[in-house]
Amino acid sequence: MGDDIQLDDDCIFCKIIRGEIPSFKVFEDDASLAFMDINPAAPGHCLVIPKHHAENIFVTPPHASAAAMATISKVAPAVERAVQPGGINIVQANGPAAAQSVFHTHFHIIPRHLDDNLLMNWGLNPGDMDEIGAVAEKIKAELD
Ligand code: 5GP
Ligand code: ZN
Repeated sequence: MGDDIQLDDDCIFCKIIRGEIPSFKVFEDDASLAFMDINPAAPGHCLVIPKHHAENIFVTPPHASAAAMATISKVAPAVERAVQPGGINIVQANGPAAAQSVFHTHFHIIPRHLDDNLLMNWGLNPGDMDEIGAVAEKIKAELD
């Protein structure tokens, strides 16, 4: 990790970066991490974060946002190939009114299906860990 990357002791995503809590990581480089969302809005739902801790996009250094976007460019096509949905949304929330619940900047990669009626505030419904792990393996295989 680069010397300029700041982590936060109390942030759940920083704990995931440090490996202090488990996660299904699908891709990682010096400045960004992609891992599965444990409350998936759809199978294959994953999150991409800059490793630099910042609360939201307004205070995230542009180089950190750019690192996350480069990883989205790798991971979103892998999700597309692994899950073969009808489409994918990239969603990024800032502030409670935008349904931001974790205050470390993150981008959602959400597979979409025609008529899934997914709303922007989709709610948090725990996923099946075996199923999430299996989709993670499929996405990782597409990144090899
Ligand atoms: P937000 O609501 O801030 O846009 O998205 C935060 C996301 O983080 C939610 O979709 C939620 O399911 C996910 N999340 C919260 N805690 C954890 C966790 O401990 N592990 C993982 N993998 N995802 C989490
Ligand atoms: Zn953090």
